[in-house]
Amino acid sequence: MKGFSALSRRGDAGAASRVKDWVVARFGDSAEQAVLVSETQCLTAGCPPTLTVIAILTPCACVRFQIHKSLGDVTQDDISALGHAAPLLPEDLCC
Ligand SMILES: [Zn+2]
Repeated sequence: MKGFSALSRRGDAGAASRVKDWVVARFGDSAEQAVLVSETQCLTAGCPPTLTVIAILTPCACVRFQIHKSLGDVTQDDISALGHAAPLLPEDLCC
């Protein structure tokens, strides 16, 4: 599996904005909220080498998800499943 290394930079940027759109569709959007999508390496033995990190930032909370896929391989189903793996933004923590 070395297909992702053949992706062009433009392709990677497209994947990032596509994933971001799915995150916004899944968790909602507001003026105070920022969604960050990035790709990083996982160094844990036995893990796929590439990891997509999604962070949802609000003034009160930061929710972070990791998907063990390269950014270009993340699907909308992966984003839909995030809500089952982690709680939505915790309103209780708001200041
Ligand atoms: Zn890992």
